[in-house]
Amino acid sequence: MSQVFQNYTDGKWVDCKSKKTFANINPANTKEVVCQHQASGPEDVAAACAAAQVAQKAWSALPAPRRGEYLFKAAEFLDARLDRLAEDMTREEGKTLPEAKGEVKRAINIFRYFGGEGARQFSYQIPSERESVFCYTVRKPLGAVGLITPWNFPSAIPAWKMAPALVAGNTVVIKPASQAPLSALRLVEALHEAGVPHGVLNYVSGSGSAVGSPLVENAVIRAISFTGSCEVGGGVYEKATQRRIRVQLEMGGKNPTIVLRDADLDYAADILVNGAFFSTGQKCTATSRAIIEKAVYEPLLEKLVAKTRQLKVGNGLETGVQIGPAIDDKQLETDLKYIEIAKQEGAKLVCGGNRLTGGFYDQGYFLEPAIFTGVTPEMRIAQEEVFGPVLAIMVANDFDDAMRLANCARFGLSAAIVTRDLTRVHQFVNQIEAGLITVNLPTAGVEYQLPFGGTKESSFGMREQGPQAIDFYTETRTVYLKYTQ
Ligand code: NAP
Repeated sequence: MSQVFQNYTDGKWVDCKSKKTFANINPANTKEVVCQHQASGPEDVAAACAAAQVAQKAWSALPAPRRGEYLFKAAEFLDARLDRLAEDMTREEGKTLPEAKGEVKRAINIFRYFGGEGARQFSYQIPSERESVFCYTVRKPLGAVGLITPWNFPSAIPAWKMAPALVAGNTVVIKPASQAPLSALRLVEALHEAGVPHGVLNYVSGSGSAVGSPLVENAVIRAISFTGSCEVGGGVYEKATQRRIRVQLEMGGKNPTIVLRDADLDYAADILVNGAFFSTGQKCTATSRAIIEKAVYEPLLEKLVAKTRQLKVGNGLETGVQIGPAIDDKQLETDLKYIEIAKQEGAKLVCGGNRLTGGFYDQGYFLEPAIFTGVTPEMRIAQEEVFGPVLAIMVANDFDDAMRLANCARFGLSAAIVTRDLTRVHQFVNQIEAGLITVNLPTAGVEYQLPFGGTKESSFGMREQGPQAIDFYTETRTVYLKYTQ
């Protein structure tokens, strides 16, 4: 029998009211149940929200640098068990062990960074028009906030929501993704060991309908930070705005990488392979469209296909494996469905695209990384997020045509260009419709100390990460103070 993990409510580890659990399955070996988690319901959410509400007054009264100390302490606990946590992550999510280690390290860095924000959280002093009047702003936390996270960065995303929320003086109820709740729970364990006061942090696992939805609807919750699909995000937005609470949504992408004629083609091919296929293409910032200038299309395609065919797909725990499985059967079906749709719409599959079978492949959700050529902007493969290792290639006549193709999507999360031409770089930065812009780097691979978020239908609300993350979790109060009478 695999280990059963509990919810964390009001400083205690508790079973959910129904006593039901659900299995966390290893996508690289579906015979392995990694562990069990609480299949919670609305009553468990209500208890967690009530605890968060009670704890908030005392927590917000604590000086912010002292709140930050809990994050520093938790970071130490996480650091001491980095290897084990990374292995947990590979087992529950499927990404390779080096990728998982990188992500746990990132969560640790996020805790340290926002621990330091406890001593910053700047506000303004502004000159008054009146004599002897001193004007300034102060930041106030919002109250109890709800965090809803996806499975693809099961540690980093919970960390980059929890840490700024807590250090700003809010209390938290977090609902992790059901496919990978263990990595978020490990963060909660570390904060518990660090001595975070009862009720300040609460963790409730369970489905989107039984836990996520009641969390958004709970009257105590003053803000929702959501990361996930556009479909679910749309519903969260409707409910949150009806209640007029603050809401932040980070959602899907259809991220382009433009390669211009002057690019080093080996370098460009590496950037495309990294952006499109690492983490099995299951990054919101993954490259899903390559837009290549006609003059270098043929030689770059040849290099790209050769490098893609060399990728080793397998169990992420094994040394040398570069691409892990899809997270579950549903995601694998989605990947295969889009591969069929692309073929039917006239795109040409030039590499991969088959489910891998035989031996250990039969126990997991493995797919050969796929490349399509002949893709045109109206095809679904050029417009819809697949969230798998599938790259759509489009040919551009020149830079202007490449920009037109790049901006021809409803999403606007990340975008890259590969070129040495400084003029084109600046034109790209000015014209591209994306919140995260990279030059001679993959579309994925962001750092925690800079603001993160997209434009168009990829995002709604304020930025996450970096100093701006605190803005979402605080409200500005303005003070006019006359120091004479
Ligand atoms: P998802 O299906 O939208 O789920 C996200 C979270 O919402 C999960 O915790 C899910 O719970 C919960 N949820 C489901 N239904 C809900 C409801 N009715 N009310 C409230 N919560 C509900 O997304 P996913 O499959 O986990 O993640 C993949 C998506 O996330 C992709 O579209 C990707 O682009 C996006 N993503 C975006 C970013 C970004 O920063 N822009 C980063 C990472 C991922 P269950 O797990 O229990 O269903």
